[in-house]
Amino acid sequence: MTKADIASLSELLADPKKILIIPHKNPDGDAMGSTLALCHYLRGQGHKARVMAPNEYPKFLKWLPGNDQVLVYDRNPEAGNRYIREAAVIFTLDFNDLDRAHTMSPMLKEATGTFVMVDHHEEPKDYAQITFSDPKKGSTCEMVYDLICALGGQARITSDMAQCLYTGIMTDSGSFRFPSTTGTTHRIVADLIDRGADNSAIHQRIYDTNNPSRLQLLGKALNNMVILPEFRTAYITLSQEELDSANYKKGDTEGFVNYGLSLKNIIFAVIFIENTEEGIIKISFRSQGDFEVNQFSKHHFSGGGHMNAAGGRSSASLEDTVSRFLDLLPQYQDKLNA
Ligand code: 5GP
Ligand code: MN
Repeated sequence: MTKADIASLSELLADPKKILIIPHKNPDGDAMGSTLALCHYLRGQGHKARVMAPNEYPKFLKWLPGNDQVLVYDRNPEAGNRYIREAAVIFTLDFNDLDRAHTMSPMLKEATGTFVMVDHHEEPKDYAQITFSDPKKGSTCEMVYDLICALGGQARITSDMAQCLYTGIMTDSGSFRFPSTTGTTHRIVADLIDRGADNSAIHQRIYDTNNPSRLQLLGKALNNMVILPEFRTAYITLSQEELDSANYKKGDTEGFVNYGLSLKNIIFAVIFIENTEEGIIKISFRSQGDFEVNQFSKHHFSGGGHMNAAGGRSSASLEDTVSRFLDLLPQYQDKLNA
C-alpha cells in the first residue's frame, strides 16, 4: 500500500461517483464482508456504491449488514451489465484475476471504469489502475480496514462495517488460528469489537446454523474419507448423487475439507465435489506447513489460491479425477514428508 496509491485513490474518491464493488465467484465470508464494509464506507462518503456478486453465496452470510442490497449478476445479467457499463469506479475484492469473476468477466474486461484491486492472493494480474495486493495478509477484510484508515476514515467505521470486517477476518483465519494471524490482526479485531462487532454473535451466525441434512452430509463425507499415511494425505469425495440425497444447498460443504487436517500427521487434505450442472469436479486443497497447495492446484487442476488453502477443478469424471490425483502423489512424496 504505497503513499502514491493512497493519494491516487483519495483523488479518485474526491467527488461522488457511481461505484461497483465485486467479490469473487462463490463469495465467502471474506469476499462478502470486505465488499459490504467498503460499500458502507463509500456510501457514507456520498458515493452511489453497490456490491454485485457474480453468483449466489451461502445463506449463513445473508445476515451481513447491507445484504439486502447486494445484486447477484447471475440472477439478472442484463441489469448487471448496465451497472458495469455505468460504473465510474470498479473495485474487485478478494481476487486478482478477472476470470475469477465468472460469467461477469467478459463484460468487466470491456468496462471503462477505473479498476481498483484489493486482494491478498499471490500473483496478481495487472488489470487494475490501482492495485493493493499483499499475500502476507490473512484476509482482504484486514486490507480494507487498513485502506479505510489510510484514507483517514478510521473514526467513521460504523458498527455495520465492523460486523462485516470482523466476519471476513474470522472466516479467513479459521477463527484466528491460521499462521497468517498476527498481533496486528488481533489489534484490528480489538478495534472492530470496540466499534460494534459482536464476536460471539458473529461466530454463532456463521458456524452454528447447521441444519440436520448438512450434518448428515458431513457424516457421509467423513465416511468417504480416504487416509493415505505414506503421503500424509486425506481426501474426501462427494458425488452429485450423495449431495442430492442430502438435499444439498450452496455452502453446505464449507469447511468439510479441513477435517482431514485434524488427523494427526496429516498435512494435505483434499475434497472432490461433483457438480453435474457445471460439468466439473470442484476441488479444495488445504495443507499445514510448507506444502504449497496453490502451486499443486495451478499445475494440475487449473486453480490457485494461497499456500495453505487453494481451489481447482477438473472436467473429468469424479473417479478419473481422483485417480489422476492419486497418480500425482508419488512425485510429491518427499515434499509431503519433508
Ligand atoms: P476454496 O477451496 O474454499 O474454494 O478456496 C480456497 C482458496 O483458494 C480461496 O482463497 C479461493 O479464493 C482460492 N481459490 C479457489 N478456487 C480457485 C481457483 O480456481 N483459482 C484461484 N486462483 N484461486 C482459487
Ligand atoms: Mn480472502
